[in-house]
Amino acid sequence: MATQISNDSTNPTTERIASRDAFEQFQRKATAQYQRMMSGVDRPVISIAISECTKAKGAEAVVAAIKAQLVARGMDVELREVGCFGNCYAEPVIEVRKSGWPAVMYGYVTPDDVPAILDGIKTDRANTATPLGVYFDGPADENKPETFQGIAPLKDDPFWHRQKRIVLGRAGLIDPLRLDEYVARDGYAGLAKAIFTMTQAEVVAEMKTSNVRGRGGAGFPAGTKWESALAGKNHPKYVCCNAHEGEPNVFKDRKMLEIDPHQVIEGILIACYATGAERGYIYIGGEYPLAIRHFRKAVKDAEAAGIIGENVFGSDFSVEMTVRVGGGAYICGEGSAMLYSIQGTRGQPRTKPPRSVEYGLWGKPTVVNNVETLANAPHIMINGGAWYASMGVEKSQGTKVFTMGGNIKGVGMSEVEFGMTTGELINEVHLGMKDGFTFKGIQTGGVSGGVMTADDFALPMTFEGIEPVGGMIGSAGFVVYDNTTDMVDMAHYLMEFNRNESCGKCTPCRLGTQSLLEMIDRFRKGQGRVKDLDVIMDTSDQVIKLSLCGLGQAAPVPIQSMIMRFREEFVARCIDAPMRVPAPQQAEPIAAD
Ligand code: SF4
Repeated sequence: MATQISNDSTNPTTERIASRDAFEQFQRKATAQYQRMMSGVDRPVISIAISECTKAKGAEAVVAAIKAQLVARGMDVELREVGCFGNCYAEPVIEVRKSGWPAVMYGYVTPDDVPAILDGIKTDRANTATPLGVYFDGPADENKPETFQGIAPLKDDPFWHRQKRIVLGRAGLIDPLRLDEYVARDGYAGLAKAIFTMTQAEVVAEMKTSNVRGRGGAGFPAGTKWESALAGKNHPKYVCCNAHEGEPNVFKDRKMLEIDPHQVIEGILIACYATGAERGYIYIGGEYPLAIRHFRKAVKDAEAAGIIGENVFGSDFSVEMTVRVGGGAYICGEGSAMLYSIQGTRGQPRTKPPRSVEYGLWGKPTVVNNVETLANAPHIMINGGAWYASMGVEKSQGTKVFTMGGNIKGVGMSEVEFGMTTGELINEVHLGMKDGFTFKGIQTGGVSGGVMTADDFALPMTFEGIEPVGGMIGSAGFVVYDNTTDMVDMAHYLMEFNRNESCGKCTPCRLGTQSLLEMIDRFRKGQGRVKDLDVIMDTSDQVIKLSLCGLGQAAPVPIQSMIMRFREEFVARCIDAPMRVPAPQQAEPIAAD
């Protein structure tokens, strides 16, 4: 009996889809095949989450163990590699489906656990191993709370309980390399609806109604940007998906490309249709090899199927797509720097206006949107802008993907409706602190936002909600600080990152970040002076006010915030401090700029 491994098989969908009818026919066939396969009626199905981080936690060894055991036992099982579910803390994660079973999710799986899981399939006892929970149609399903063989429903798990998954709706449920599985779960239905039933202005109007705001950090309404691009008379026009993250502990866009690349392609295509753009670009950081591989494969399959290229689905809409890989400079995530990098010139920001929507790639109108922003577009086309705007709160509508790191139990990626409080996001969705650690603060907005403390737990996690205390949604990569975190060291780490990544074009940032780093380094070595804290705050103000782009304008924000909130830790490192703390032994001199 052969073990079926979906990633080893070729994608069955390489025929060109030449009309709307052909698409709908393909959709029906793909859905029927997918549903039958996922029901486990022909053979049990084991899905294992594969991403850069699951590989780091041993997922490939689990795959090897499953393959070896299946062969040794002669079991006929469909073994699939899927995108990760987002519960990184429990990786490696596998999901088992069998006729008559709900989906059973197992976490923390090691090769040693594989025999018990396979025994369970054979003997019809899912609980012979240690499952995380069961679900009937996706982790966020609210309607079927039944237990199964004493295993609790996953919806009762706090990590899943409060999530509202839209752009993560297919996470772990499809093989990212299979176009047919994407289509089986509503994939490309939003694009088909847009190009066959809506004018460009109507697509833009839906986006405006949804009020989906830029998820890359700036929060600018996507519909307004698309409207400006549609109004532009200059051709060609471009849409550019910014998939360059580059900050430590920020990984939502990487994950989205790894687990559901067609969703991002569909968003880019809808944006191209709406704005009259002839070509879509995506710019991915070179440090994301799996995301690049998945996205390139998805583009190739979409081209073969006639979803990218001349006369999409037989319509009048034609579009091309180009994948560009960055060299790893953080500054190339800044919109104008990214466009220069795509053009093949040095990636440095420029003054604005003109905005890229008027003067972008090669001087032509260019819509620059983040991965998550574009991933929302297909759902907005299918369900309408009003549906999207009904979620969340005023000014911050819809859902938001967050990644959370630190010594918390629920390290990983979540998608929640805007409006949840900061405390709920940390302590409920991301499961609170690990045993032995106490909460000290949370770094917001990657390396660009302020630190919030437990005093801010009641604030809604929205664009505006956390702003008054210096918090920032930004890249939505948050890190929780605990009782072992040295805030002076952390301030040094963040400033060193920004100093290293400053492109050097403008003086306030080039010299200011270096100067701030040198001052913080003195504190780290126990050689600061109390009055230097005022100098750091003043210098920070100047760097923020005078820098050309977001990097310099934000680089000192976390430092100011740390000094304001944890001043005593800095004072304790001063040579003139009343209560001096000895300098750490491992402190090293900083490298010259
Ligand atoms: Fe370059 Fe910094 Fe100036 Fe931005 S603020 S242009 S990163 S030197």
